Amino acid sequence: MPRRLRWTRSSRHWVRMNCISTYEEREVMKIGFIGLGNMGMPMALNLTRAGHEVRGFDVVAVPEIPLGQASSAADAARGADVVITMLPNGEILSRVAAEIIPAMQPGAVLCDCSTVDVDSARAVAEQARAAGLGALDAPVSGGIAGAAGGTLTFMVGGDEAAFATVSPLFETMGKKAVLCGPSGAGQAAKICNNMILGVTMIATCEAFALAEKLGLDPQKLFDVVSTSSGSSWSVNAYCPVPGVGPQSPADNDYKPGFASELMLKDLRLAQMAAESADADTPMGLLASQLYARFVEDEDGRGRDFSAMLPRFAQRHRNS
Ligand code: NAD
Repeated sequence: MPRRLRWTRSSRHWVRMNCISTYEEREVMKIGFIGLGNMGMPMALNLTRAGHEVRGFDVVAVPEIPLGQASSAADAARGADVVITMLPNGEILSRVAAEIIPAMQPGAVLCDCSTVDVDSARAVAEQARAAGLGALDAPVSGGIAGAAGGTLTFMVGGDEAAFATVSPLFETMGKKAVLCGPSGAGQAAKICNNMILGVTMIATCEAFALAEKLGLDPQKLFDVVSTSSGSSWSVNAYCPVPGVGPQSPADNDYKPGFASELMLKDLRLAQMAAESADADTPMGLLASQLYARFVEDEDGRGRDFSAMLPRFAQRHRNS
């Protein structure tokens, strides 16, 4: 019988996972998990199911769950090998970091998986390192389905030692983790990726709305574009036309998926970063303005970000 041993670090203690054809030795880690929302809760549950000792905390009461519950963020962080945060924004992350860093044990790693601005990510990492901790910014792609299914992609900023410590946890919660560079590089990769996504989705929706007005069958346009130079993930994997291409939120009345307000958040973070780095991003700026109008003045809030298609289809050249 094949025998596969995986020793991740010099030991705290170990659990033996017996499978039909393999044995796996895996370290049980003590994890503090702060922010048990749509993403954080399923990620924390996946870590628990893998045998780790997880203690979670959220400011909002969470339902009865098979997870240790801490009385505060500092309580969740105390004694943990790794503290994972999954919070709404950089301001909240900074507040939580100020509370937990003094409570964490030396050598532990603070791993922030929220999507936040690059400057906050770098500042928090700096404070953690000054306190003798490891620090990673590790935002994710894959959404709620990826969090539940353990198929997230992690884009990571920080040093190799901290990355090696947290890698087994990334493997449990996701399918891929890329160390992109020093602190802030994970957030930089996330917002650059999502700036491309926002811009290509708008271009895709414009093109299909134009095609309709030109009397072109959207299925024919999909057949051409998806195998031509205009192809992109927005067209090929997430086509915004109902009934065309693979199953997507367009086939479910544009229920998210990836909500327009989350896309707006990421496009605004990209603009904050562009401002701070003095980068010229005219298409990213226009995409953030269009999604702001869609979410704040039109009917985009709570709809998938591909619902830009019916928006364009209803409009006219000068409306
Ligand atoms: P969410 O609002 O569902 O969860 C955030 C949680 O943080 C909430 O439960 C909230 O009560 C908690 N919280 C707020 N302040 C806190 C504090 N001081 N201490 C402890 N807990 C606190 O958001 P989400 O959808 O889980 O997203 C979390 C992060 O992941 C965001 O940064 C988001 O941009 C990013 N993200 C979300 C998705 C998605 O599809 N939802 C995809 C990729 C990335």
